[in-house]
Amino acid sequence: MHSIGIDIGGTKIAGALVSDDGEILSELRAPTPAGDPAAITDLVVNMIEQLREGQSVIAAGVAAAGFIDAAQSTVYYAPNINWRNEPFRERLRERLDIDVTIDNDANAAGWAEFRFGAARHVSDMTMLTIGTGVGGAIVAENRLLRGGFGTAGELGHLRVVPDGLLCGCGARGCIEQYGSGRALLRMANEIADAGGIGLQMAVERERAGALTGEVLARLLIDRDAGALHALRQLGRWLGQACASLSAVLDPEMFVFGGGVSIAGDLLLDPVREAYRDHLPARGYHPEPQFVVAELVNNAGVVGAADLARIHASTIGR
Ligand SMILES: [Zn+2]
Repeated sequence: MHSIGIDIGGTKIAGALVSDDGEILSELRAPTPAGDPAAITDLVVNMIEQLREGQSVIAAGVAAAGFIDAAQSTVYYAPNINWRNEPFRERLRERLDIDVTIDNDANAAGWAEFRFGAARHVSDMTMLTIGTGVGGAIVAENRLLRGGFGTAGELGHLRVVPDGLLCGCGARGCIEQYGSGRALLRMANEIADAGGIGLQMAVERERAGALTGEVLARLLIDRDAGALHALRQLGRWLGQACASLSAVLDPEMFVFGGGVSIAGDLLLDPVREAYRDHLPARGYHPEPQFVVAELVNNAGVVGAADLARIHASTIGR
């Protein structure tokens, strides 16, 4: 039976009708009415009703950035929607005659990779989404690891540098400050300032005042030495984090999603190298695979839809 997935992003809300094998059958998109929770709720209800019309649908799942409780019901905190302790599932249930669940967006995207993407053949995977920040999702023994309070898998806030750079979360030295798209830009600008490597990058830096993500992406395509050096630093930080994560979770596979992951092996090779350098008792157990995500744009809606379908099946509707 089909289910519906909705992904509330910072700039847009995406919705899709999804088959039980993860195929998108129809989709909708709208700009996020940022800062207006009532308008967001109305939009989500309308999208679900539109996608549902004339279809046999078992459940709807909503994904959003933030802390969601383990019961897939209450949003503890959602930065894009300005919510604190919002009983979002109940709000939607009041207006929809269908089972609804709420999940963290990175968890939904990771679940989609596990079910239908790069990690579909393994039982244990850890996903790192390298966008502006660093998102995470953990599947352990075929189950999405939500944790006791629902907020497990916030891998971006794993500390890699004691008393390191201040993070948006208020702590210092989180991997998000060393392994994100924003960190890549910072490192590239530092390399350009220092001179010596990456002539083209230094020229671009001089001309524009600061490198943008767009310019850096072009420099990487051109294989500029300075840009490659920055990407290598980023990969090494992530590899070090993966070694620590392996000690806890022992995944068969690390999946890398987000914009930076399109660099493929240019990113993954330094990740693998640093992983081997930092793994405790390395060489004494099999090495996980390091791969890039397959479901690039639709992972959030596909994962949210599938998690909702599983929830509805489990409670016997
Ligand atoms: Zn942090």
